[in-house]
Amino acid sequence: MSPASPEAFSVEKGVAIAAVRRACLATCTVFNQLVRDRTDTLSKEDESPVTGINFRLSGLRVDADQFGKVGDYTAQAVINTVLKNAFPKDPIVGEEGAAALRYESNARLRERVVSLATNALQEDLIDGEKSQWGLGSQHKHSSEVLLAAIDEGNDAGGPNKRMWTVDPIDGTKGFLRGGQYAVCLSLIVNSQVVLGVIGCPNLLTNPANPEGEKGCIFVAVRGQGAFQIALSGDSVVKLPYFRPEKSYVLQSEEPKHTNLPLIRQVSDELHLTEWAMDSQAKYCCVARGEGAVYLRMPAPTTGGKQPYEEKIWDHAPGSVLVEESGGKITDSEGASLQFGLGRGMGENRGFIATVDEELHGRVVSALERAQFTKDANKTMATP
Ligand code: AMP
Ligand code: MG
Repeated sequence: MSPASPEAFSVEKGVAIAAVRRACLATCTVFNQLVRDRTDTLSKEDESPVTGINFRLSGLRVDADQFGKVGDYTAQAVINTVLKNAFPKDPIVGEEGAAALRYESNARLRERVVSLATNALQEDLIDGEKSQWGLGSQHKHSSEVLLAAIDEGNDAGGPNKRMWTVDPIDGTKGFLRGGQYAVCLSLIVNSQVVLGVIGCPNLLTNPANPEGEKGCIFVAVRGQGAFQIALSGDSVVKLPYFRPEKSYVLQSEEPKHTNLPLIRQVSDELHLTEWAMDSQAKYCCVARGEGAVYLRMPAPTTGGKQPYEEKIWDHAPGSVLVEESGGKITDSEGASLQFGLGRGMGENRGFIATVDEELHGRVVSALERAQFTKDANKTMATP
């Protein structure tokens, strides 16, 4: 069966959408508990304002990092459970491991994760979902089995195999702020991404209506195009479908993850408006046309420190989504992306994703000029 035939990877697509949808619902539950309990803390407990680093999670006081971890572990437990039921032999390259959840000191955190993941998996089936994927109320999920499912994400990756990548919550800081975050899943066969599914619970379903519904799932199968589904399940739209009046360049919110001064030079030259956003939601915005460019340039390192090695789970789903919507993606040097080297992406440092090929060329040229100016200034400054 050729990858472009409509049946190719149709089961995998259904499984991936179910896994991401349920993981998104679980992360929304975690966040809503945070907001509710934060209010309780403010009004009843000690009448002192919360500092922003301490939250209550159903009776359990946790700091922000641990809170993000509840969402991370829960989402990976949900996704891996579905994948292991549907495709028991497929390896998974996932960001999280369950070692910390096994410490006795983390017993309450573990209980929370087990209860949230169980609830997400046991919800009633919707159209297209199957009980044999481990879904529905008849399936029981012990703590041991769910922790083992999280640990299934420990595969080392590599070139000649079929494997899944999982980033349960990409953009943890966005998640904690109530901003953008993404639940990310991809299928890679022999180093090529063939399927990408990204859930963005806080992204508007219709960018033209800022007051409207939030929550989207983005889906792309190699050779079959890219689509946006509302998290509520109500609508399916083929990508791209939106062109705003301004041309935006999406970039990381986190200054350490990219080179903001260099991006500014390029956006000035190409008259792009900067838009900072956490997570792979940036790829989704380019795929639907809302953003013209997503630029991630390697942040400069100091003191002989090795540059950051990008991870396959952070870019595999977004890359196929951009390509299947008619866009182009390369690394910051114009090279194609490597998904068969292991968990990391080796020399692929930084990324240029654009809505079309022509703009990609212009961004690459502008980047070359910006780098040249910077290097020339450096030389002139040297005595
Ligand atoms: P973003 O939300 O675009 O800033 O990207 C979030 C991702 O950046 C996380 O999933 C991390 O895996 C990744 N990351 C962590 N440290 C770095 C770094 N120093 N440079 C680039 N990316 C990083
Ligand atoms: Mg990530």
